[in-house]
Amino acid sequence: MAEIRVDNLVKRFGAFTAVRDTSFTVENGDFFCLLGPSGCGKTTTLRMVAGLELPSSGSIRLDGEEVTFKRARERDIAMVFQLFALYPHMNVRRNISFPLVSMGVPKAETRRRVEEAARTLRIEHLLDKPVSGLSGGDRQRVALGRAIVREPKAFMMDEPLGALDAEFRHLMCGELRALHDRLKATTVYVTHDQLEAMSMADKIAVMNDGVIEQLGSPQEIYDRPNSMFVGDFIGSPAMNFIHFEGTAMAGSASVTIDAAAIALPELRESRASGPLALGVRPEQVIIGDPGRPGGAIPAEIFGAEYLGTTQIVTLATPRGTLKARLPAHVRAAAGDRVSLSFRPERLSLFDAATGKAIR
Ligand code: ATP
Repeated sequence: MAEIRVDNLVKRFGAFTAVRDTSFTVENGDFFCLLGPSGCGKTTTLRMVAGLELPSSGSIRLDGEEVTFKRARERDIAMVFQLFALYPHMNVRRNISFPLVSMGVPKAETRRRVEEAARTLRIEHLLDKPVSGLSGGDRQRVALGRAIVREPKAFMMDEPLGALDAEFRHLMCGELRALHDRLKATTVYVTHDQLEAMSMADKIAVMNDGVIEQLGSPQEIYDRPNSMFVGDFIGSPAMNFIHFEGTAMAGSASVTIDAAAIALPELRESRASGPLALGVRPEQVIIGDPGRPGGAIPAEIFGAEYLGTTQIVTLATPRGTLKARLPAHVRAAAGDRVSLSFRPERLSLFDAATGKAIR
């Protein structure tokens, strides 16, 4: 399998720059997600790595070998698309064996590799069935079979689960990750769905407007977003932002919002004053704990959405609306007046003018 190294990649379409100076390394065997909103440049990045699009500048290396201007078929990378075109008049076995037949692989070896791929995907019982009668999930497995049977250096997947309904997508996410754990194949996976990325990836690159805003493990990205964009894009409900004017200095461990002193993880390097934004994950909001050292913000409960073990409570505060994720047993009736405090450990602070995190 392969390490993929991308340096200073740029892609222009006429006057429009779709990918701007992007660099990242996908380590051997990693499941790497390119995540971001529609139009941010993730598909274009993936297509350049796969060799389906030529970069305007920059370089791509596969296991140390420069492949920037090599054709797709010279790169030994398999691509899995959302609507993978299976051949409806062929059975599953012939669909999976197709790439091997066109590569001229001997019959006995083709048979062995197709059966091994089918075993890996747990579709051996379907090998002699026509693809036209298969469910969406089984078609997706056949499509994956056609990609893995080639035993490529790496897999590129562009929203492969996009056409499936939510429940099935969740199931297939689990299967894809399990497949990845069995094959240990370097995989680059494009999605706009943060839950999909969070549940499968070893590393996530969050893209926005042609650049990678942050690259890290799902937990690093969730716990320490380095911009308001990332804080907002990752997590459901999204991170709350409380906007205020203030000063945050290296060494300080709190900010003052109205009369409340809000405890923060200690700031080490940066210093900022002016428009700031406190970033609070919904599960960091605590209702009614006046004994907590963080100080309190007054709020009125607007409504609660019951989710079984937790509830999402919407709160109106003098600094705008906040969402809190609370245990289901906490009383949260519309109209109740409460005071809020925040768990300080993972609060984020941003320069609201630039959107960048202050650390
Ligand atoms: P989506 O999930 O909607 O596909 P994406 O993040 O994958 O979004 P890209 O498909 O990479 O985004 O497109 C990035 C930008 O480049 C978009 O604004 C798109 O319109 C533009 N673009 C992509 N391909 C071309 C092309 N061949 N010619 C001109 N513009 C293009």
